[in-house]
Amino acid sequence: MQPPVLVVAAAIVDDLASPRSLLAARRSAPTSLAGRWEFPGGKVEPGEAPEDGLHRELREELGIRVTLGSEVPGPDDGLWTLSPTYVMRLWLAEVAHGAPEPLVEHDELRWLATGQWLSVPWLDADVHIVRSLMSVVSSV
Ligand code: C5P
Repeated sequence: MQPPVLVVAAAIVDDLASPRSLLAARRSAPTSLAGRWEFPGGKVEPGEAPEDGLHRELREELGIRVTLGSEVPGPDDGLWTLSPTYVMRLWLAEVAHGAPEPLVEHDELRWLATGQWLSVPWLDADVHIVRSLMSVVSSV
C-alpha cells in the first residue's frame, strides 16, 4: 500500500492574535467536490518542505502571501486523516500581502464571521476540523 499523500492547508483568519473571521474557499473542481468548501492548500511536492508547499499553494490558488501562526495538530500523530489516500497538516495563518482571490480550483471565497464558521457546506473531512478549530480559537 502507498503511504498517504500529505496535503497542507491554512486556516486563514483575520487576526492571528484574536481570530474572528475564517476564510473558506469553495471548490470548483473536481466535479465530485465542486460546491463544497475547504481550507485552501494542496499537495506537497516531492522534496518540498511542508511549509514551503503551503506558501506555494496559497500564492498559486489565492494570490497571497501569508504569515503562518501555530499548527493545529490533528488526532493521528498530529495529522488529520482526510481519506485512505490523504492526510493533512493545518496551520493558522494571516494574510501578509495581497487580497485573496479565487484564481484556480475555487470559484468563491468567503470570510465567515464569528458564529458563522459552520454556515457553509465544508468538505466532509473538514467539518470536524472546523469544530476543533473553534474550540482552540477561544474567542470564536
Ligand atoms: O486540493 P487537492 O486536490 O490537492 O486536495 C487533495 C485532496 O485533499 C482532495 O481530494 C480533497 O478531498 C482533500 N482536501 C480536504 N480538505 C482540504 C484540502 C484538501 O479534504 N482542506
